[in-house]
Amino acid sequence: MPPGATKPGQTSQTLPSGRVIVPAKQRAAQSATLSESPAPRRELLPHEKKHDFNAHIERQDRTARVVAKILRGAATDLVGAVAKQAAVTPIAQMHTVTASADHQLTARIEKSLGVSHRFGYCQVYAERKRATGRGKNVPVKNLKGVTLSAKPPKHQVRFVAEATISDFNNEVAKRARARAIDLAKEGITGDELASQVSKDVLAAPDGFLDVIGQEASRAALAGGRAAAMEELQPEIAKYVRSEVMDRGTAACAEAGGGCEEGDGQEFDSYDDAPQPPFEDCAGDCRGQLIPVFEDEGAVILE
Ligand SMILES: [Zn+2]
Repeated sequence: MPPGATKPGQTSQTLPSGRVIVPAKQRAAQSATLSESPAPRRELLPHEKKHDFNAHIERQDRTARVVAKILRGAATDLVGAVAKQAAVTPIAQMHTVTASADHQLTARIEKSLGVSHRFGYCQVYAERKRATGRGKNVPVKNLKGVTLSAKPPKHQVRFVAEATISDFNNEVAKRARARAIDLAKEGITGDELASQVSKDVLAAPDGFLDVIGQEASRAALAGGRAAAMEELQPEIAKYVRSEVMDRGTAACAEAGGGCEEGDGQEFDSYDDAPQPPFEDCAGDCRGQLIPVFEDEGAVILE
């Protein structure tokens, strides 16, 4: 059985980073359901009516697909390089074989993630406009009486891009090492081992690339929202977690996740509020953190 193949009935694998890989087939079924029927699972609360859930889902999925496509395109070269490394490494030293995608790839991923990040950022300002009537050019009003500390600028997109490449490198190297060890045990060495490792790793299911793409897109979009909420802190009364679009929360709860219970959780300060993807999620939920403004009026998304 090739590395990374999913046995029938096998559920999910956990990456060294603690992230969970859902088998491609299962994940495809989940996303199909989500994109076909992005409907809320309960009535929207008043503050949720200013949030464009569908646009967020659409943007997130689109960027995720772009990122996965870029990684898929880069996989052949990366796997080839790791396979060559494995071919000249003694079996006992195989753990030293690593993958290292080039900086250009990080830059491309960063550019794609930037679209998600900007979208998230602009959406929070759009929510502010819908809730308070104040547009992007209206200076932040200090309604809450908070003082913003002068923090160094965050390079969130760069960070997410680097973490994405790191996951990509780790997973490719892990697969190549496992295959190289199996082949070496069969007495295959040198060029033959290199080409066989490449062939087998590239032929194995690569749904993990879609998972990495989703995680990256989600983190970038959330990072953009977080950046805007950080700026708007003096106008925001509270931050509310919303899992209203998550039809999968029951499955998440069954796996010990906290999304179902976390739905509607409120946080008074930006610093206390967790940012999505929420750490206690044990599934594929699409939780969001939604700001409630101090002077928020009744809003309905047009
Ligand atoms: Zn969850």
